Amino acid sequence: MTGSLHHGSSSHGKPRDYSRTPLNVYWEMTQACALACRHCRATAVPEPHPMELTFNQGVAFLNQILEFGDPLPQLILTGGDPLQRKDLYELIDEARKLGIGVSITPAATPAFTREVLVRLKEHSVEGLGLSLDGSTAQRHDSIRGVPGTFDRTMQAIRWAQELEMPLQVNTLASAETADDVPAIYELLKPFAVSRWSLFFLISVGRGKVLQPLSPEDGEKLMSWVYETSSQAPFTVATTEAPSYRRVALERMRGEGLTGEQIKRSPATRGFGIRDGHGIVFVSNTGDICPAGFLPLIAGNVLKDRLADVYRNAPVFQSLHDPTQFEGRCGYCEYHALCGGSRARAFEATGNPLASDPFCAYEPHHQ
Ligand code: SF4
Repeated sequence: MTGSLHHGSSSHGKPRDYSRTPLNVYWEMTQACALACRHCRATAVPEPHPMELTFNQGVAFLNQILEFGDPLPQLILTGGDPLQRKDLYELIDEARKLGIGVSITPAATPAFTREVLVRLKEHSVEGLGLSLDGSTAQRHDSIRGVPGTFDRTMQAIRWAQELEMPLQVNTLASAETADDVPAIYELLKPFAVSRWSLFFLISVGRGKVLQPLSPEDGEKLMSWVYETSSQAPFTVATTEAPSYRRVALERMRGEGLTGEQIKRSPATRGFGIRDGHGIVFVSNTGDICPAGFLPLIAGNVLKDRLADVYRNAPVFQSLHDPTQFEGRCGYCEYHALCGGSRARAFEATGNPLASDPFCAYEPHHQ
């Protein structure tokens, strides 16, 4: 998996009811990938799955996205490596014809050339997501499993800048990488990055070989993210660490910001979104899950309707409703804005509604 890509607000600017329509539909186009990243959710392999959605099945799935209605979600093409799909550009064209915005998270392999980026732009791809997990080749490549990946990623960042392609950079936040995060920020600062998101490790797939941050170290890093975000030339955000929203809110209130100022702050964009609520994931074989890191299969696009599953399947309905969360996340005053990482709760306990074990907060009331 090459990291997530997130669009912080509706491209149409209309408020969205996340229990009816997600902001982002992630499509794992293939599990095939030439990299062997140590934290890969998909445990990607060199070959596609024999039951991978065909072109026609892919087009039928894209048509289902229209059933969400206006404003349509953004489609994020991920994998594996989406560049390994031979029909990638045709599928992008089909989505664009339907009026669906498309972003992509390619893997930094030799197949990802400047020509590929030019072509993606010609096919109206609106955003690019790249992963940068270390400030040096040694640190990044040891996580990504293939030498040369750091250099290729930095090259791709330069190309994206030249081609004026909106770029999101994703960085792993784990025990192994946390001390390097400030240096990665310095490395990115000169570039026209639109969003930098720290992905707080969830130990699934190959991620099990890396260590997540402790809640205390996570809290420290989130404070650093908040402080950095006020000076950074780009948006600084977190993935699978919704408790950052609590940290940011507490800091803003502490600084005396009014409710209206807080609402308008870029830091509050994406509040309320969590796994299965604002996000839906479709696997390479068509399985519908709340998120890539929450592999609870609630349906399959080959036999179910995506919008129906997202709105009505019991697992999605419970994820839409924070009053159903258990433990601290159930009675926490921040549960509508934050709600905890449902993927991490599931990974730790087998229950997607359990409390997020990463959060260090003790809610005030019970
Ligand atoms: S207890 Fe749960 S809902 Fe409250 S801030 Fe922590 S993770 Fe978020």
